[in-house]
Amino acid sequence: MEKLRHFLLNLLFPIECLNCQAEGEYLCTNCFRQLSFNDLAASKQATANLKIPTLEKVFIAGNYEDKLLQKLIKKYKYHFMKPLGEILARFLITFWHFQNEVPADLLIIPLPLTAKRLRWRGFNQAEVIARYFSQHFSYELCLDLKRTGKQAAQADLDESDRLENIKNVFHWSGKNLEGKNILLIDDVITTGATINEAAKTLKQAGAGAIYGLVLAKG
Ligand SMILES: [Zn+2]
Repeated sequence: MEKLRHFLLNLLFPIECLNCQAEGEYLCTNCFRQLSFNDLAASKQATANLKIPTLEKVFIAGNYEDKLLQKLIKKYKYHFMKPLGEILARFLITFWHFQNEVPADLLIIPLPLTAKRLRWRGFNQAEVIARYFSQHFSYELCLDLKRTGKQAAQADLDESDRLENIKNVFHWSGKNLEGKNILLIDDVITTGATINEAAKTLKQAGAGAIYGLVLAKG
């Protein structure tokens, strides 16, 4: 049924590359190769001003100035193009393969959305990416981090309001995390306030080292 639906949709609206309009994929292989990855220096620079004391490190895979990456992220998040999640996951997977020192035995946790936000988008963009990522590396995926509250969208607030806005919105509903190393996955990082707050909640649940992995710094 899903296959038939896909076939008919493709007949009516052929899938084409968002960059070069070649038919068949939302991002063709050639255009995927044009995406640029942060090297060590770029990554250091991108994380320099983040306020993330609870995390060991945040890995920032790409650059938001990269117009193609930015386009993919915007189409994915704001035009609800869920299939782009697989492409963006492939971007993180490729980046991760090139890292020399990655922590072992990671538990993968996507940054959750509020119920309201989830209804609006229809999917959690971080969860879709985290699912492909964890499958690829055979990491365990865990969805027991929850987000509540009626907080305003972080993007609309200045820095001090962001910190206040995000306080105590995360809740852990899973088992004790004693001895577990965590990799938190999100799409875009701005000040780091949100991911740091999530990490604080996981620390209270007993987590060991906590790392972050995002597509870009927005
Ligand atoms: Zn293309």
